This record gives sequence, structure tokens and C-alpha cells, in this order.
Amino acid sequence: MGEKKPKLIFVAGSIMSGLGKGILTASIAKLLQSRGYSIIPIKFDGYLNVDCGTMNPFRHGEVFVLDDGSEVDLDFGTYERFLNISLNQNNSITGGKLFRALLEKERRGDFLGRDVQFIPHLTNEIKERISTVSKETNADIIIVEIGGTVGDMENGYFLEAVRQLYNENPESLFVQLTYVPSISQGEQKTKPTQQANRLIQSMGIKPDIIVCREQEPLKKEAKEKISLFCDVPIEAIFDDPMVDTVYELPLVLEKQGIYEVISKKLNLMKKEEDLKNWRTLVSRIKNPTKGTLRIGVIGKYTEVKDAYLSIKEALLHSAANLGVSIIVDWLESTDFEEKNDYSSLKKLDGIIVPGGFGKRGIEGKITAIKFARENNIPFLGLCLGMQLMVVEFARNVCSLEEANSKEFNANTPHPIICLLPEQHRIIEKGGTMRLGAYDAKLEKGTFTYKTYNQETISERHRHRYEVNPDYVDKLKEKGLIISGVHTKNNIVEIAEWPNNYGFGVATQAHIELKSRLENPAPLFLSFIKAAMKEK
Ligand code: GLN
Repeated sequence: MGEKKPKLIFVAGSIMSGLGKGILTASIAKLLQSRGYSIIPIKFDGYLNVDCGTMNPFRHGEVFVLDDGSEVDLDFGTYERFLNISLNQNNSITGGKLFRALLEKERRGDFLGRDVQFIPHLTNEIKERISTVSKETNADIIIVEIGGTVGDMENGYFLEAVRQLYNENPESLFVQLTYVPSISQGEQKTKPTQQANRLIQSMGIKPDIIVCREQEPLKKEAKEKISLFCDVPIEAIFDDPMVDTVYELPLVLEKQGIYEVISKKLNLMKKEEDLKNWRTLVSRIKNPTKGTLRIGVIGKYTEVKDAYLSIKEALLHSAANLGVSIIVDWLESTDFEEKNDYSSLKKLDGIIVPGGFGKRGIEGKITAIKFARENNIPFLGLCLGMQLMVVEFARNVCSLEEANSKEFNANTPHPIICLLPEQHRIIEKGGTMRLGAYDAKLEKGTFTYKTYNQETISERHRHRYEVNPDYVDKLKEKGLIISGVHTKNNIVEIAEWPNNYGFGVATQAHIELKSRLENPAPLFLSFIKAAMKEK
């Protein structure tokens, strides 16, 4: 049997960045998936970093982690949240990965006697990687999002590989995402789109579909102009309006008939979509009936929009499934260090302390955790949030004053949190944390066990420190419940406050990373339920 040839969709952004290519890619994929096709996304990022692991959330937003431990761009979170599937390292192609692989091959002598060139060597490297994903997944359709904007230096060679693939495969489709600005009296200007389309055509690719972001609904005249100048039929020009929630975009595109255009070019069947559940969840996000909760996230990258994206989304998934609306207060932890003003905490129905690195803001987070514990405010700790929950418990319940994590005080008399043994020898920074999915065995009778209702769970990790095993007995003696452990090397995975403090659960794993709209993270659901009950 020959290799199955997948149909190909390419999505590229034009004119400017920030138009929502990731959400568009995920939305198109969702519409095909809802008709029973297996569709797998690939993202190309032009930067020369091998992965996102060494990038600061201030510059690049959240680092997303996959089951296999790859540290990837936050668009992967969007794909997984929309499609309810788990991806792996092969789905992420970066400039860094390509050049590293190519140079390794060159040194090994794979190209002996030849000069190594962008075309065909680099472009072949790209094509091989797409083919690897196709073989590995056996997908009906592969959708490739090209990071950056057409015209960038960083993705030029990738677009050349796309040109080759596009022309070699009749069942392939190219989507140009563009922006149609309005000027005085609501006149929509299409010239930037026309010029960007020319630029793509000069690379040997002719877009089949043009999707337009805009400030106001795309007018008929604007569509006609784009159609005429870009040689795209008017039915293949779509409006990508502002939506109340990103999860609405598949429905908006469906309504405009995007599937008909895609299915014609890719020779897909005429099939009805099955988006019943999706529609219900979207309408619950838009019209919540069970009131409003105010949840505080005590962080230190709070002014960066996407630094805690997965937490924001995980909260929304739980809210949609429970029918409530959630207002998130992004609170800067350092504020609780400087002033003794807790008024912003008093307003909250629930407190989350997220993950993080480095000393800044740590004491403020500990203060917020103490406040939650003493005032019966439901608390959820994630990674660093779990480590600090344990530090707070050690200091204030076990009377181990000055207890701390060695990450923040190397000389603490009570190193409640210490480096994982395998981390001692590590010098390189890229890809060296405890990364990806690890199992935790849950303790029967605990709240966590009741929530997951299973003995072994698997969640994603990204950390170097752990709860110091030498202190576990002491913590337990004073009531801290260790509800989940990674049995292989006894790492504490989940801790709970005893009943007298109300709801408090914290996980070493980043449970927010596996939350999906149609499959919310179990402990987020419990946390929101607890907040609803307290309120
Ligand atoms: N800085 C902590 C560690 O390395 C927590 C990491 C995190 O929150 N992702 O263990």
C-alpha cells in the first residue's frame, strides 16, 4: 500500500502581524474535523531559536508545553483547545530546528561534494518534515500555519517550500489572511490587500481564499474589489469580524460557507458539520445564566496579554461548561509586598497562583495564599503556585519560620522546595527542565481523587524544583494532604489543604495546558464549582 497523500492547506498572514492566524487556522481545522476528517496542524516559526523554552513571557507570551516535553509557541495551545487533540514536537517547525538539522547533516557528510543551498536542501528539509507528520498521523488533511507575515525575511524560504508543495499537490489550498482598514466615513481600503496578494503571487503562489480582518463588516464593494484585483471569486472572500469569544470564529466562517469553497478545491465530500456541542458551549460563553465570579490571578507578567493565556482559557472552559461568567483580576504580586492593602483580594471568589521563575514577587504570592487559606477563599496553585502553597503551609502552620524554596533563598534553614536531583548537573538552559507529561498516582479518599475519579492521571510539567521529600512527613503531620505522587521518584505532584481551610488544591503540573473547551481541566472545574458554592 502506498503512502496516503494528505490534502494540504496553508495559512499565511499579510500586511501585518497580530491578525489572529492561529485562531483562523484552528477554526478552519475545526470545521473540517467536525465533518469527520482527521486534520493535523503544523506551525512554522521563522525565529532561529530551536524552541520557545528560552523565551521570556514578557517578549513572547506563554511557553506552551506538549506531552512529549516540547516547549512551543502558544498557537499550539489554540490548536489543542479547539481540536481536542494532543500534538507533538514534529508539529512545530522552527528556523532553529531546520538550520540545526541541516548543519548537522552537512557536518556528517550527507551532502559530500556539494554546496548546501536554501533550495533544494533547506526546502527539502521542510518538505520532509511535513511528510513525517503525514506518515506519523495518517491525517486526511494537514494544515500549515506560516508564522510571521508574507514579505518577512524569516519565512521567505519556507514560502518557497510551500510554493513547491502547493504546485505539486492539486488538492492543496492557500489562505491569505489580510486586514482591510476603514478610513473616514467608513470607506474600506483594499489596496494593502491587493499589494500583499501581488507579493504572494510574485512568489509563485496564488491564494484560493482571502480572509479579511476589519474594523466594520466587510462591504460588498470591498469584496468585489478584492475579487477583481486578486483573482479570487467573490464567494472565496470571507469576513473575519471581531467576535465575543475566539471559539465563535468557526461558527462565523461556517455561516459564510467557507466549507463549500474548501471542499471544492480539496475534493472533499458534501457533509453536514457536527458542531452541536460546540455551539452550546459558545452560546453559554455569550449568555451565561449562573451569575458572575471574580477570580484573581496573582502573577508577575500580568501586564503582558498572553503570558497566562492557558490559565485564562482554562477558566473560560470551566465557565462555559458550568454556565457562569468569570471576570479575571490580573493582580501584580509585588503589590502585596509593598503595601498592606488586601482590598483587591477581599473582592475575590477564588485565587490562582500561577507558575513562574525567579525571586521577584514571591513574597506577595505567599501573602495571597495565606489570605486565601485564612479567609476561606478557594485557592488553586499551579507549579510555582503549588511550591509556594507548601512554603506558606510550612511557615505558618508547621511553624518553620523562614521556610523557603532554594530557588529564592539558597541558605534557608528550611529548604521546603529544592532542586530535583537530576537538575544538579545541568548547565544548558534549553529543553533541560522536567518537561512534558508525567503520571501521578492519586491517593484514594482525597478531593483530587474524587475530582479525577481515577487512580493514575497524566499532566504536563515544566519545572526544576520539587517539594523536598525530607519535609513531607512533617507537612502531613500538620494536616497537609499529599493527594498525588509521581511514584517512580516520589515527587509530590498534588497537595490539598485539610478541610478546615476550605478549598485549596495545588499541582506541580501545569494542569491548565490540557484544558480544552470540550474537555475542561478537572481541577479547574472543581475550583470554579467551589468558588460558586462559596459565593
Ligand atoms: N520556578 C519553579 C521551578 O523551576 C516553578 C516553575 C514553574 O512554575 N513553571 O520548579
